[in-house]
Amino acid sequence: IPIGNSEESKESSGSTWPKDLIALKPGEASWDVVLKKIKELSDSDCRDAFTVADLGVLASRHQVFRQALPRVSPFYAVMCNSSPWMLRVLAPPGTNFDCASQGELEQVLDLGVAPPCILCANPCKPVSHICFAALHGVKLLVFDSEEELIKVAQHHPGARLVLRLWTQDSDSIFPLSSKFGARLEVCEHLLKSARDLGLAVVGTSFHVGSRCQTPHNFMKAIADCRRVFEMGSRIGHDMSLLDIGGGFPGEEASDPEFEEVAVVINAALAQDFPEGSGVEVIAEPGRFYAASVCMTAVNIIAKKAVLEPGGPQKLLYYLNDGHYGTFRIFPREPEPRMPIVVKELGPKPPLFPCTLFGPTCDALDKLFLKEVQLPELDVGDWLVFPFMGAYTSVMSSTFSGFSPASICYAMGPELR
Ligand code: PLP
Repeated sequence: IPIGNSEESKESSGSTWPKDLIALKPGEASWDVVLKKIKELSDSDCRDAFTVADLGVLASRHQVFRQALPRVSPFYAVMCNSSPWMLRVLAPPGTNFDCASQGELEQVLDLGVAPPCILCANPCKPVSHICFAALHGVKLLVFDSEEELIKVAQHHPGARLVLRLWTQDSDSIFPLSSKFGARLEVCEHLLKSARDLGLAVVGTSFHVGSRCQTPHNFMKAIADCRRVFEMGSRIGHDMSLLDIGGGFPGEEASDPEFEEVAVVINAALAQDFPEGSGVEVIAEPGRFYAASVCMTAVNIIAKKAVLEPGGPQKLLYYLNDGHYGTFRIFPREPEPRMPIVVKELGPKPPLFPCTLFGPTCDALDKLFLKEVQLPELDVGDWLVFPFMGAYTSVMSSTFSGFSPASICYAMGPELR
């Protein structure tokens, strides 16, 4: 599949991968690559931050998803990590794609993905993006308001519409319901408006918020969808698609674990949309697929010690990637992430409260709002953050002239 990227190379098999792809040997993991790169860079004066993305991990996440939720077809949320190499790994095993914008539609269509395998899941789209979807035969569009219906009726009358419902998501780490989702009370009106405008509503969707903490919220939302399916059928729509959104955990040892969430979802589906009901079930996972693919290594470029009268000594570490780079989303997480310190330290080294600053001149350029407990380290030392594949590089900027961590891709023999 040709991808419009100048850094690609063609192997004799005809498949296209990044020129500098790291070929993992059997049993080798991205952690080994991170350590090797750290060693190489530590012998030079250029200790730039870098990310290692293991594309094999991505393929295995797909398998885990399919096994745990056999009735659910994933539409990968491109916004979470839109690396062309990630998309390229996902497309062949039959993953479909959730695109938030024209830019993402273009990216996915350029990969050769068929329009029926694409969902425009952003409920509030610019008219020009709706026109682009219509022109390229992308029909599945999510909406949650009458205004969106009017735009679609004018610019994409052949669309197959999915009504996004409001969900209870206040205890999710990244709630979305203050921005999106129609309340149950307005659904009947919206379904009638769609019918009167000559539009086809084919199903419902919801998003329980990213990093959902309460699997029961899926169950409640699926039950709400059942009610709206009945409403839609009464009004004359052919309701046949249930979209259970994203919100699945990205880290293996998360609380709740993905498997727990899957059990709740499978039970809710069996109750409200039993097999044989003729309803196709899809989801829009992002974080679940992408988080564990990447590890990011950052270097300490400056350090200060702060002596507080009567209090513990505090340390300020200045790193070469930060809030304006790869770590933009992390201040919104309730707890800071603990990095792995890559340094030989004695047993049980004393720990200090440390602030981790990014490299720019902005005082708010911190990786986390809270301090983290770390040992005393030096300029030139490395910290490694695992689970860095979701909402990281896609949100980064080059503010103040600092580039975010460069990304190198690794892959085991099973994918090559
Ligand atoms: N779909 C939509 C419409 C979203 O807004 C998001 C995230 O914000 C996702 C899917 C992906 O969610 P997650 O990364 O929690 O799986």
